[in-house]
Amino acid sequence: MIEIKNLRIEDTSDGWSRVAVDVNFEGMDDLYNGEGIWFSTPSKNKHMLSESYDAFLLVPLYIAMSYKQDLYIRGKVSKRLYKNIMTYVQTILCEYSERLSKVNIFVDGFSNTTNQIKNGGIIGTSFSCGIDSLTTIYDCYINEQDEDYKLNALFLCDCGAYGNYQDPKSHEAYNQEYIYNRPAADELGLPAHQVKSNVHAFMGNIKDFQLDKLHGRNIFNSGSWGYLATFSCVFALQEGINKYYYPNSYEYEEIKECGKYARGYDLSKFCESYLVPLLQTENIEFITHGCQYTRTQKTERISDWHIMKKYLNFGCKKNGILCGQCSKCTRVLCILDVMGKIEEFSTTFDLKAYRKNLFIKKCHIRYNAMTLSPATAGAREIVEYYKAHKNNTMPSALTAWIYMFFYRARRKIARMLKI
Ligand SMILES: [Zn+2]
Repeated sequence: MIEIKNLRIEDTSDGWSRVAVDVNFEGMDDLYNGEGIWFSTPSKNKHMLSESYDAFLLVPLYIAMSYKQDLYIRGKVSKRLYKNIMTYVQTILCEYSERLSKVNIFVDGFSNTTNQIKNGGIIGTSFSCGIDSLTTIYDCYINEQDEDYKLNALFLCDCGAYGNYQDPKSHEAYNQEYIYNRPAADELGLPAHQVKSNVHAFMGNIKDFQLDKLHGRNIFNSGSWGYLATFSCVFALQEGINKYYYPNSYEYEEIKECGKYARGYDLSKFCESYLVPLLQTENIEFITHGCQYTRTQKTERISDWHIMKKYLNFGCKKNGILCGQCSKCTRVLCILDVMGKIEEFSTTFDLKAYRKNLFIKKCHIRYNAMTLSPATAGAREIVEYYKAHKNNTMPSALTAWIYMFFYRARRKIARMLKI
């Protein structure tokens, strides 16, 4: 069994405060050296930290389901969250991965539900400053006039998206991203809050994370569980936050079309449009934003916004300029290229790096668009976008196929010669 107990709010020596619990693994391996789970924030935000166990429910649930262990929470949780988990969420997770099994969750009662969602609290979202995040800020802050829905705070969480908790580089990457993105929040006039956690230290040690190695990643595939960690960070601050916009990665249609290919690999692509609305408490309403747009539509939507030109960030900045050659940069630049706006972004991206081997990059996109894999929807969307415009410079299907045939043959021969 997994036991979560002894919740406390405490100050740490670095000027931060945190809500922490002890974790007891009985009858199974300890996943993280006997340590507990915590969520922390600068002490000026201490009043936001919640004494509910909600923040310690989702990730221990995923671990319990992975190891077929019952979960014992020695404290109170939200009745709404508990009911949704017991009735719906576990079913969705079992459909997502055959490695997961339904488990019992025992709690010591429910939090006071008279504290319903109130007006005047914090309405937040993430400010990673990627396309999804910026589209959410653009729609829900710049273009939102209703104070009940208008964003009034931004959050950046260090809970897995930057890599393994034990790797100091992951925290350096997080700090660097905060330094790059903070001026965007200042320019928008929004407070930029930091949240850190060690919750991904536990997730990274789950046995089924071997999957990530199949995809050649040195860091976790946070897509498989990352947003459970992000929501847990928000639950930890639910004394202050009333609404939270979750910037969706995938369009409704894309999830319908590609979800089945993402089974066991990418929880977001499998079900984010219908799982996220179930992760609610009486105090926090989560709103998924972005499902109504394709990636191309998001890029088009914010391409004239000076904040995008100045602060777009995919975590690949060098000296303040995006690399121009990673898959995220290539995808957005291809769209801007067709729109005829690429030169407007000459100080945002390294355009020289983008144009180097561009034909080869496009052959990869064209080829991916022809194959059936979880990645194809994005590639197909770009190819369709090129087709719909006059200056279609995407290689033909035949050209891409021939190129990829020789590309793969060459790689195979090179590998054989190495052996
Ligand atoms: Zn890049």
